[in-house]
Amino acid sequence: MSVLVFTENWDGKFKKLSFELVSYATKLAEMLNTSAVVLSIGPVADEELRKLGNYGAAKILNATGDGLNSLDNQSWVNIIFQVAEKVDATVLVLSNNNTGKALAPRLSVRMKAGIGAGVNGLPKSTVPFVVSKKVYSGNAFADLLIRSEKKILTLSQNSFELVEKPGTPEIENYPVSLDPGTLKTRVKEVHKQTGKILLTDAEIVVSGGRGMKSPDNWGPLIELADLLGAATACSRPVSDEGWRPHEEHTGQTGKIIAPNLYIAIGISGATQHLAGVSSSKCIVAINSDKDAPVFEAARYGIVGDAAKILPQLVEAVKEIKGK
Ligand SMILES: Cc1cc2nc3c(=O)[nH]c(=O)nc-3n(C[C@H](O)[C@H](O)[C@H](O)COP(=O)(O)OP(=O)(O)OC[C@H]3O[C@@H](n4cnc5c(N)ncnc54)[C@H](O)[C@@H]3O)c2cc1C
Repeated sequence: MSVLVFTENWDGKFKKLSFELVSYATKLAEMLNTSAVVLSIGPVADEELRKLGNYGAAKILNATGDGLNSLDNQSWVNIIFQVAEKVDATVLVLSNNNTGKALAPRLSVRMKAGIGAGVNGLPKSTVPFVVSKKVYSGNAFADLLIRSEKKILTLSQNSFELVEKPGTPEIENYPVSLDPGTLKTRVKEVHKQTGKILLTDAEIVVSGGRGMKSPDNWGPLIELADLLGAATACSRPVSDEGWRPHEEHTGQTGKIIAPNLYIAIGISGATQHLAGVSSSKCIVAINSDKDAPVFEAARYGIVGDAAKILPQLVEAVKEIKGK
């Protein structure tokens, strides 16, 4: 019996999400009196794999082989299923991101496992197995009872604090040979974003809404983000209008994030938007309407015209940073 945790790497580097998953799986394994086994797929250097040991990973299986550079759902489901059998996993932990959402249902069928999708904490009890998740755009919690012997949990991003537990993990190579003939689809090309801070990993996020008035006004917002080492985000209408790319859209139907600082500029604070950002440690809102709902979620607020306030903020940050 074990807890298997599937980690994700981008070009051989682990992001915060993977450390979070390992922290979670390690604590869950303690609750179940068993151990956590970490699975990494694709080429990752041993030095990078050892970083997972800082969060409690004692054993890492490193699946390597041709064709594992990019996500292919069918191949990865096969590998994860094989490993789950090998380590007798009773619980499989994945992220509740697009990758996890694509893999978990397929694995659920293969493993005959019940899924807890988008859980945001450790189980409340293990016998019976009850775990909670946010529902209704984060306005309520639901307790899920999973009755199957095997279970799959997808963890909401940024919902579990990193728990440092340094150790030296045992790394075992797990050679995989894929028969391309058995796959029904094939990933032909992958276009990766480069040079930008990944929104879901960012400690600081500067986000704009319709109150920014036009896509031409984004210059100072981007400048502020660059100065703060922040990622940029936006509300849904902004990406629907094509003012900003869709991958920046946060909220119920977009990315769910929980940075240390979320600066919401010209965003009203609709429930569907807050569903994606309300777990941020500190929200700062800039809005011309003093009654905008965003101020209820914000710790600090500035009532005023973003077009005037943003350049002043940029200048103030430049001064503090000596730029
Ligand atoms: C099923 C469903 C799912 C949805 N999912 C999402 C989602 O995932 N994410 C999301 O964001 N939305 C989502 N929405 C849309 C959501 O309901 C809101 O319509 C949207 O969040 C509003 O975006 P906004 O705050 O940018 O624009 P608005 O509601 O138009 O608000 C603009 C704000 O800017 C302020 N403002 C105006 N001028 C200035 C100025 N000069 N300076 C400063 N402030 C100014 C205004 O006071 C106002 O508060 C969803 C809706 C539905 C029905």
